[in-house]
Amino acid sequence: MHMELPNDTVVTDLIDERHHWKEDIICQHFSKEASERILQTPLPRIPQQDILIWKFDKHGSYSVKSGYQLALKQKFSDNPGCSDTTRTHWEVVWAKEIPEKVKVFMWRAAKNLLPTATNLWKRKMIMDPICKRCSCRSEDVFHALLECRVARKLWKVTEFYEEVKQIPHQDMLSLLQEMASKRTKKDVELIIAVCWAIWYSRNCFIFYGKEENPLISVA
Ligand SMILES: [Zn+2]
Repeated sequence: MHMELPNDTVVTDLIDERHHWKEDIICQHFSKEASERILQTPLPRIPQQDILIWKFDKHGSYSVKSGYQLALKQKFSDNPGCSDTTRTHWEVVWAKEIPEKVKVFMWRAAKNLLPTATNLWKRKMIMDPICKRCSCRSEDVFHALLECRVARKLWKVTEFYEEVKQIPHQDMLSLLQEMASKRTKKDVELIIAVCWAIWYSRNCFIFYGKEENPLISVA
């Protein structure tokens, strides 16, 4: 029976004054495999400042793309029903020539991270989840981007209007996956661009009170 490591143990506590790993302590507290991996990690001879490393990128730096890919992997690993074909479609969506800010927007929409009235209301930041544009329904991501009659005005000037009217209420990740499996890359790219334009004009209305003009948004 050995002593537990204190909760505030940091890596330095596992390194001795000669800058070697404290092998006995490591072997006592970690599994054989983990101990081996720790002991294989080279230590600098001269102490250096710690830096944050994003382990999912080969250069160690975080990028939205690697974060997004990781998020997708987690999403898919949670959902064994998703086929490899669907995953491939998603990777294709990411690889498109879409501006970075639009990719970030799409990722946030798919993860339900956009600050819609419903999301802010759930976090107790506003009093009610009602859509400020139509005052008809609560505003979740699907409502804001596809269902709201103000958003529909913008869809109306696109070739997707008839289809958008038929889409049942759902989360954006499912919707984009379905679109990616049925439509051409170019179409999916356009749909994402329209969603972004709708969100942009919605924010102009919410924050600056500017009326939404579908033609300006599309431009
Ligand atoms: Zn609305």
